[in-house]
Amino acid sequence: MKYISTRGNAPAKTFTEILLGGLAPDGGLYLPEQYPQVTRAELDAWRKLSYADLAFAVLSKFATDIPAADLKAIVTKTYTAGVYCNGRADSPAEDITPLRTLEPGVHILELSNGPTLAFKDMAMQLLGNLFEYALDKQHAELNILGATSGDTGSAAEYAMRGKRGIRVFMLSPIGKMSGFQRAQMYSLQDPNIFNIAINGFFDDAQDLVKAVSNDHAYKATHKIGTVNSINWGRVSAQIVYYFKGYFAATQSNDEQVAFSVPSGNFGNICAGHIARMMGLPIGQLILATNENDVLDEFFTTGAYKPRNTSHTYETSSPSMDISKASNFERFVFDLVGRDGAKVREFWGKVDKGGSFDIKDTAYWEALPKFHFSSGKSTHYDRIKTIQGMWEEYGVMVDTHTADGIKVGMEQRRPNLPLICLETALPAKFEETIVEALGRLPERPAAMEGIEKLPQRCVEMDADVVKLKAFITAHV
Ligand SMILES: *Cc1c(COP(=O)(O)O)cnc(C)c1O
Repeated sequence: MKYISTRGNAPAKTFTEILLGGLAPDGGLYLPEQYPQVTRAELDAWRKLSYADLAFAVLSKFATDIPAADLKAIVTKTYTAGVYCNGRADSPAEDITPLRTLEPGVHILELSNGPTLAFKDMAMQLLGNLFEYALDKQHAELNILGATSGDTGSAAEYAMRGKRGIRVFMLSPIGKMSGFQRAQMYSLQDPNIFNIAINGFFDDAQDLVKAVSNDHAYKATHKIGTVNSINWGRVSAQIVYYFKGYFAATQSNDEQVAFSVPSGNFGNICAGHIARMMGLPIGQLILATNENDVLDEFFTTGAYKPRNTSHTYETSSPSMDISKASNFERFVFDLVGRDGAKVREFWGKVDKGGSFDIKDTAYWEALPKFHFSSGKSTHYDRIKTIQGMWEEYGVMVDTHTADGIKVGMEQRRPNLPLICLETALPAKFEETIVEALGRLPERPAAMEGIEKLPQRCVEMDADVVKLKAFITAHV
């Protein structure tokens, strides 16, 4: 299996060759040359597999340059009840992603029982083990530099802590995260994790990361890498739970289902699109946005108009506060019949701050065959959904999952079982839960009182010279 760039101008690479990198040299994103197909016999056999065995079966089709025994060992070590045991006390941890049925035909797929209580752990934990394996083989080291406003940074740190050959330098804006988020990250005492609190906003932290990454000489000598959501390893790991959720919600492989996905960077739902392209019987992929609705706008009007940070709203589902969806380019590559020149043309505009519109093209006619629906949700909708779920089913959901449920219920086709992806636990977003329900969400036992643990972090001005000096001193 080789990987090609969405912009059509980069040499094909293997899974391990693209694992540690980011963008392709032509600025595009990597995708398989063609999607591996899953036969009916395979689907029938996969239905009975444990999560780790299913992950092995799915990922074997993508990571063809990792010896089977090694890949098997990596997924077995990753997808254990011990790693994914943070969920509510009534969730069977050995399922890894338990399916909670609200009523016949309406389900929640729990993806947030990992160490940081968000679905990003599903892929990031695997990535940590894949990175360690690949670096060991190459006798190499990697210094991961990132900026976070919450979820991604903590998921990366919990995945990379204690890993050989890897250090994490994670920038976060001082005072802009919740006490819980801060405690989750800053209480890590692993010597390979460096939390750097930046005097400024998230954008200032992000700019520092870009400044270091654009210094190609520094980046090369200091082996700087990233783990952002365009990483192919992350997308491929997310494909697995679409299969798992499908099997859990159906009796046979003749049935179709709908998935509803709270979306920001289009990473999660991109995995669903790929699962469908592989042959998983998904009848409908429902994309939910919050008030930051560029993706809903595309699927309803054909115009993709990314916005800049000053036009991105701060909402109560903050992990979806994104107005430029990096993984969306992967879907558009398929939509335009894998025409790299067309993607170059579109993203030539996007990269200059512009937009594109497919309304009057054949691509708009082609869109329905990808089975997407979309909708948006507002703060009011989230509150109402959180209340409704609690009153009707006694189930507490977080704000992002609520966006997905609201849009999923609106957009679902009759007779198609609906699987709403849970992307975080309510414990991560206490403030909005209290606003909706007048009570605090339950916290997994392991997280009780983490705000009281000693915290370890350095404070720094938003100054690239100081940041480089710090990294240089610690590698
Ligand atoms: C990252 C995140 C999302 C958005 O996922 P994408 O892959 O960026 O579309 C939604 N909800 C939560 C809780 C997240 O952390």
